[in-house]
Amino acid sequence: MRENASLHDYHTFGIEVSTRFLEEVHTTDEFLKVYRDSRYDDLPKLILGGGSNVLFTHDFPGLVIVNRLEGIQVLEEDERAVRLKVASGEIWHHLVLHCVENGWGGIENLSLIPGTVGAAPMQNIGAYGVEIKEVLESVEYLSLEDFRTYTLRNEACEFGYRESIFKHTLKDKAFIISIILRLEKKGHVLKMNYGDIREVLEKNQVNDPGIKDISQAVISIRQSKLPDPKELGNAGSFFKNPEVEPEVVESLLRKYPLMPNYPMPSGKIKVPAGWLIEQSGWKGKRVGNTGSHARQALVLVNYGGAKAEEVKDLAYTIIEDVESKFGIRLSPEVNFI
Ligand SMILES: Cc1cc2nc3c(=O)[nH]c(=O)nc-3n(C[C@H](O)[C@H](O)[C@H](O)COP(=O)(O)OP(=O)(O)OC[C@H]3O[C@@H](n4cnc5c(N)ncnc54)[C@H](O)[C@@H]3O)c2cc1C
Repeated sequence: MRENASLHDYHTFGIEVSTRFLEEVHTTDEFLKVYRDSRYDDLPKLILGGGSNVLFTHDFPGLVIVNRLEGIQVLEEDERAVRLKVASGEIWHHLVLHCVENGWGGIENLSLIPGTVGAAPMQNIGAYGVEIKEVLESVEYLSLEDFRTYTLRNEACEFGYRESIFKHTLKDKAFIISIILRLEKKGHVLKMNYGDIREVLEKNQVNDPGIKDISQAVISIRQSKLPDPKELGNAGSFFKNPEVEPEVVESLLRKYPLMPNYPMPSGKIKVPAGWLIEQSGWKGKRVGNTGSHARQALVLVNYGGAKAEEVKDLAYTIIEDVESKFGIRLSPEVNFI
């Protein structure tokens, strides 16, 4: 246990904040022991994976529990598919590389997303046309109310775009212990129509791509577009892409005929938040020690020494500006703590 510990190295935004107590746990039993320790009674508690989707807005007055649960286990395998049970503290990208090396298809488009396996279902991580819900069979969690373990099948996880039951009904009530994924060994259909995947494959003269080629293409695109948190603090996309009513989009298109828009199965239309931010004049703009990134307007960065208040102020100024120009209110994807 550490007291008054700096959180600088435990989250990717690199904001200088501390926590009253910090514990790292390697097993569910350790987690239970720490969580129920009487020393921490009545204190707020926060479960942290890689800290790549959080913005600490103040020093944390309670206990931060850092999840280090490890293990990747093959539950079942035949010539067509494999079922994997993965502990929640595993690094997501390590899992992707492990699957790619074994020729197991399904999560190659999700290469290089920072953070842990346990946080992946929280916001149904997604990138390059794939979301984790497409391969996730179930989530095992420890209830923080009755301290029993439960298994939620995919359909019960209420997955949506960057959404799940863990951000709503089960918010602060569950510690995700492990997930079960079903990946394909045979007949896997590669998804290449999103972003620049096809262009990168063509440029590298890959004519008959496999799982590994897709993973490598995604990695190189991400490295060229997104700031590396080790060099420039950030939490990836700060805002969600808004989904708006077709009438709103129709009327906006009359004024902004080039506005990109993507119809969703729900009937709503997704408009890229990055485009809205760029059109509002914020792309690449720096305010004090924070700003919107020059190559990806959706990512707010810490140029060094940024205070959480600065980042928050910038985020809300952007939200107001986008709303007054387009009538669309952006909502943060990052979890404010
Ligand atoms: C450069 C960069 C690029 C990114 N790109 C993408 C992207 O393409 N797509 C995407 O979807 N996301 C992206 N993200 C966001 C982030 O990587 C994901 O949301 C990731 O899943 C967060 O994992 P984490 O372990 O860091 O979670 P943390 O930031 O540690 O936690 C996030 C939330 O989940 C809770 N939590 C964490 N673990 C558990 C657990 N075991 N049980 C219960 N609650 C838990 C925390 O309390 C917190 O509320 C990006 C982030 C960065 C920095």
